Amino acid sequence: MFMGKDCLFCKIIRGEIPSAKIYEDEHSFAFLDINPVNPGHTLLVPKRHFTNLYETSDEILKELAPTIKKLAIAVKKAVSADGINIGMNNDSAAGQLIFHAHFHIIPRRAEDGFKHWRSKRAYKDDEMNMLAKKIKASL
Ligand code: 5GP
Ligand code: ZN
Repeated sequence: MFMGKDCLFCKIIRGEIPSAKIYEDEHSFAFLDINPVNPGHTLLVPKRHFTNLYETSDEILKELAPTIKKLAIAVKKAVSADGINIGMNNDSAAGQLIFHAHFHIIPRRAEDGFKHWRSKRAYKDDEMNMLAKKIKASL
């Protein structure tokens, strides 16, 4: 796992790698994704290095939440988007490539044709209630 010194996003935060920065405060840093889903696709990262959502402190998440909202509104306005997706990939299986926690703020167009999930499935019999119980028990 790339920490502090070698982490790409830590290097971007420190200014060692250039980025199209759009916002910075005490706890967070936001810049444009180099390969956008749509133009304006923004990444918001905590300045402190956390690997993913599970590792990110509650204190920092509280600081980031209003910033996600602020950026979503600003990006939507700037590119006249029809909608905004907020996403976060955690672990490789979920598509995480950079192991410094980050939120994707993705402008969407009504006609852009992107689909989140290839397909959705149905639950069988009592599977949904059983799973709800299991997840509650894991909290
Ligand atoms: P992940 O798949 O980890 O959720 O997303 C990582 C994102 O970082 C990708 O969307 C990718 O395009 C973006 N990215 C990777 N390298 C760079 C870079 O050097 N600069 C910028 N601005 N974005 C990057
Ligand atoms: Zn980092």
